[in-house]
Amino acid sequence: MAKSLDDDLYRGTAFTWTVTGIMTFQMLWTTLPTFWLMGYKLKHTLMCLAPGMLLHAAVWNALHPNMHSLPDIPMRDGVPSSWLAWARSSRFFKFLYVNHEGHHVIGGKGNYNVCCPLTDHLVGTFIPEKAWRPRARSTYASFVAVSLCWGAFSSLRRLLDGASARRWRRVDGAWRHAYAIAATHHTNHTGGMARS
Ligand SMILES: [Zn+2]
Repeated sequence: MAKSLDDDLYRGTAFTWTVTGIMTFQMLWTTLPTFWLMGYKLKHTLMCLAPGMLLHAAVWNALHPNMHSLPDIPMRDGVPSSWLAWARSSRFFKFLYVNHEGHHVIGGKGNYNVCCPLTDHLVGTFIPEKAWRPRARSTYASFVAVSLCWGAFSSLRRLLDGASARRWRRVDGAWRHAYAIAATHHTNHTGGMARS
């Protein structure tokens, strides 16, 4: 859990097997009593919870790392992105994409739910696109600026690489993160989905 973002290929955007396991465990404490009160047997509760967790992780892994221009998750690391990667061009996934774009434009203070935005409506944390979209306008300039700096930095790094590759890793990670965020905004301006 304490792994730094730089050591994580998906930079904390993926539902790895560990994260899926921890979340399933955490959910047992609320799910089991609730379903018990509704008269469900343990077996039937788990028969609802397990596929629910898998479907959630499948939607999340197909969408979220991809939104941030990070690689898809193979079976080895978590529920594979490939299961639902085909749905990225669907209207529903595009709607989820735009909703989550809002989450990042407003600094992560709203539109918390990537896969089930209805929850944001229920708890009053939904921010409509017309409220946050005007604030995203300036990010195209920042995307170009970050791209240029990234290009210059990569060339410099290639020149100095070999002798001091380790020292550059942390800086590289920070830049890759900045680039990924800027690229997310950029793809929204060009109307396309991020491709890794
Ligand atoms: Zn995100």
